[in-house]
Amino acid sequence: MTRAGATVNVEQQGKMYEGKAKIVYATSDPSLVIQYFKDDATAFNALKKGTIVGKGVVNNRMSAALFQRLAKTGVPTHYVRTLSDREMLCRRLDIIKIETIVRNVVAGSLAKRTGLEEGTPIAKPIVELYLKSDPLGDPMINADHVRMLKLATPAELAWIERMTLRINTVLRPYMLRRGLILVDFKLEFGRGPGRKLYLGDEISPDTCRLWDRATRQKLDKDRFRQDLGGVEDAYQEVYRRLVGEPVGA
Ligand code: 5GP
Repeated sequence: MTRAGATVNVEQQGKMYEGKAKIVYATSDPSLVIQYFKDDATAFNALKKGTIVGKGVVNNRMSAALFQRLAKTGVPTHYVRTLSDREMLCRRLDIIKIETIVRNVVAGSLAKRTGLEEGTPIAKPIVELYLKSDPLGDPMINADHVRMLKLATPAELAWIERMTLRINTVLRPYMLRRGLILVDFKLEFGRGPGRKLYLGDEISPDTCRLWDRATRQKLDKDRFRQDLGGVEDAYQEVYRRLVGEPVGA
């Protein structure tokens, strides 16, 4: 094996971690892991559970396409290569326990917190920080809390916020050209060897709010959260617009 992008014969080893939507496996290369994307869906801190048929394939392929696009614009990501419809080879990261959210349009918890109507445009994108903690229900935090909890250094946080806005600047017009309004999305970052920072996790209809540009119809996990129906079709439509032909389960 020479470099991550040219790996051959990386063998899957034991399960390291199973989350709500993904399983992470160790590999024969200690610097690499495999992310396996499931069809399982949860919402409201796992109070609501279900299955979205074909979701794992959509999320894996869409994340791969967007990570590759971002890499071209100078955003370091954990993506190495796609192994199968549901498996992605990634750099192994020490995940920073911060969920970073960018908002371009008012929706979800921002509508609840501010009383602003869903759909209100936001002139300058907002970046929010949340503590990644299932037992605490991912509470919102600020830079002082990050420092107090030693989640990241001030330099790391500044880099994360800068990169987050760059990612928004890349993805928003890319999606708009394909008929999708990028309302908001969540990112996670982690540290690789030498504490170098990378974008991790996934970018998918599970982690983004995406509305149809013309009709403003919701084409993301809100269809599952809010029992709107047509969940699978929405995921397939996003896949078709951002990646290519619809995929099977
Ligand atoms: P909100 O704070 O309005 O509930 O969510 C803002 C954005 O972040 C939405 O696009 C939502 O999908 C995403 N998001 C926030 N928290 C989580 C989470 O714990 N898991 C996932 N998959 N997405 C999240």
